[in-house]
Amino acid sequence: YEELTPLLSKLRSQQRQIQRQMRDLKRRQEEFVAITENMSEGFLVIDQETRVLTYNSAVLRLLYAQTPTEEGESVYALNREAGFRHCVEEALAGRRCEQLLEKDDDCRQIIASPVEQDGQIAGAVLVILDVTEKEQRERLRREFTANVSHELKTPLTSILGTAEILQNGLVKPEDIPHFAGNIHRETERLIGLVNDIIKLSRLDEGGGLGQWETVDLYEEARAVLEQLAPAAQRKQVTTRLQGGEALVRGVPQIVEEIVYNLCDNAIAYNRPGGSVTVTVENTAFGPRITVADTGIGIPREAQGRVFERFYRVDKSHSSGGTGLGLSIVKHGAAYLGAQVELHSEPGHGSTFILTFPKIGE
Ligand code: ADP
Repeated sequence: YEELTPLLSKLRSQQRQIQRQMRDLKRRQEEFVAITENMSEGFLVIDQETRVLTYNSAVLRLLYAQTPTEEGESVYALNREAGFRHCVEEALAGRRCEQLLEKDDDCRQIIASPVEQDGQIAGAVLVILDVTEKEQRERLRREFTANVSHELKTPLTSILGTAEILQNGLVKPEDIPHFAGNIHRETERLIGLVNDIIKLSRLDEGGGLGQWETVDLYEEARAVLEQLAPAAQRKQVTTRLQGGEALVRGVPQIVEEIVYNLCDNAIAYNRPGGSVTVTVENTAFGPRITVADTGIGIPREAQGRVFERFYRVDKSHSSGGTGLGLSIVKHGAAYLGAQVELHSEPGHGSTFILTFPKIGE
């Protein structure tokens, strides 16, 4: 039928157009899935009845949901916590809402925004972020600030008290050196503390730490032990250096700081008649320095914590240190790419092993 030809060609062209549109839609849908599936953030769209319209698999992981929801299931099947519900309710009432959800050590941030269509709330978009690390960092920073204030206040209070006694003329002339000595000791402690805080913040920032050079661990250990000889003598601790040259790439100041802190502790937490043995060697894993002491040791439950800022096993045993030495060791080692190991037997002694990457690796 001749007269049907225009109709058929119209139909054919419409069909082609529909196919093109379908292909286009499919491509866009694939793009959308590819993007949302590759997001580490959870992405979830719901309608105004809280039914899930679309979500990516990160949502399930971040909301600790076991099974994917059936189509049209309420979003509350994924998570029923009050904070989550509040966020959904707020968004569906037309208000953007942010909430933190905490579970065990994990922390999630939920951001819910309303979706409007023709002036009506049609649903909501939820974005879920894993902010565990960020929250942890912030908690550590808050704790650090509180600890710093406390640690600074203690020597300052002592200095102030002693200065007041001296000022009021309550001290006999022969006792003045004792009180002045107090001020001197506490001031030195303050300076040590401030210096350690500066070192740690430089390590945190990763700037202003100095040039990378080739450093001989053996030479570094020899210099440190020489510097600590008076302290060792006071403590009646003998020190021994064994092994030989072991070259590493590093910032000399940081290497020295690490070796110094380890040897200083090995002497300070020792017992009269005890010893400290420093061994420098090249191993299959890389250049290594081992600082072993015959001191008081570290209780098993404290071994994981001694690297924390301001952590001290026993404040009364602390050698007037700042509690920052091992944090500097830990962060310094991380900066240089070195591994730190601790083995300790309470009552018998501790061994700190530091293994550096081989030069060129
Ligand atoms: P501090 O300034 O108190 O020495 P550190 O960060 O260097 O701070 O050490 C933290 C704590 O770890 C110390 O207070 C001490 O209790 C413990 N510690 C460190 N090194 C040793 C060691 N070699 N033997 C026993 N305990 C140690």
